[in-house]
Amino acid sequence: MANKAGTLPPKFVAVYPGSFDPVTNGHLDIIRRAAANYPSLIVAVVANPSKKPLLSLQERVDLLRQVCAGIAHVEVDSFEGLLVDYVRRRKASLIIKGLRIVSDFEYEFSMALLNRRLRGGVDTMFLPASLEYAFISSSSVREVFSLGGDISEFVPPAVLRAMKRLDGSRLGLKKRTRRRGH
Ligand code: ADP
Repeated sequence: MANKAGTLPPKFVAVYPGSFDPVTNGHLDIIRRAAANYPSLIVAVVANPSKKPLLSLQERVDLLRQVCAGIAHVEVDSFEGLLVDYVRRRKASLIIKGLRIVSDFEYEFSMALLNRRLRGGVDTMFLPASLEYAFISSSSVREVFSLGGDISEFVPPAVLRAMKRLDGSRLGLKKRTRRRGH
């Protein structure tokens, strides 16, 4: 059995899709656990221009590549359009999803059924969030950070550094007016 995605039969290649805006410790936990239990995992960043992400597609891909660098059998890629088409294009057959709370389940369950209806043979597997990460979402990370809160517990160090380098205007922060001494 070969190691690299693309050289394996479809039933050995899984796709973990998401916005990853930015990648959090919760995502990373799912990636590690999926990769430990599956021969090949493609982490696929959704290029969803209508969503107006904080980080560009390239920034999200680059950060994922950095944080996944030490994890065997993981490839980072991006895609546009229908997930099931991407899954087929990459010769995969399984979609991996992380499940945090009950509300995730409602949406993810219907998406899993829809994807299977769109493409027979493409199925979804859910991994429950680890308890310590179950409350983390990219949107809460963005919000806490933009309000000046500490996100160091929620994201990998490379993500924290990248967020700190962002121009305040991208986070919706007003430029600080410099105090003048009188
Ligand atoms: P978010 O919902 O945080 O904006 P994404 O759209 O990038 O994140 O989510 C991609 C996938 O990762 C989804 O399956 C989502 O349920 C899962 N996920 C997100 N955060 C976590 C977490 N903290 N623990 C487990 N799974 C998660």
